[in-house]
Amino acid sequence: MDAFTPPPNFAPRSPLVRDCTACGACCSAPDIHALRKPLGVPCVHLRPDCLCAVYAARPAVCRGYQPDWVCGEVAPLPTLEARMRRFLEVYGLDDEARL
Ligand code: SF4
Ligand code: SF4
Repeated sequence: MDAFTPPPNFAPRSPLVRDCTACGACCSAPDIHALRKPLGVPCVHLRPDCLCAVYAARPAVCRGYQPDWVCGEVAPLPTLEARMRRFLEVYGLDDEARL
């Protein structure tokens, strides 16, 4: 099983997404300690086009992040807010983020 194999309860609604589409969800939904970024708040370096404004100087945690099956859950959604909400839902963090 590779990183793109969704758990059984997600499989029916997970399109196959194997490349990062720069959807911005992973720069917005999780808390990122190295950036002092809270849960459910887009990174201050995330540009309106969902690219990283400090890409060359981004921290190691961002450099190490790899696409996985969750991208299939979030990337096809139409807005950053929807993608962020779904990301938090997948990880059971939607209540904690108080969106
Ligand atoms: S959630 Fe996946 S597709 Fe979206 S920006 Fe992050 S790695 Fe790329
Ligand atoms: S520093 Fe760049 S890659 Fe890292 S979370 Fe912020 S926008 Fe995303």
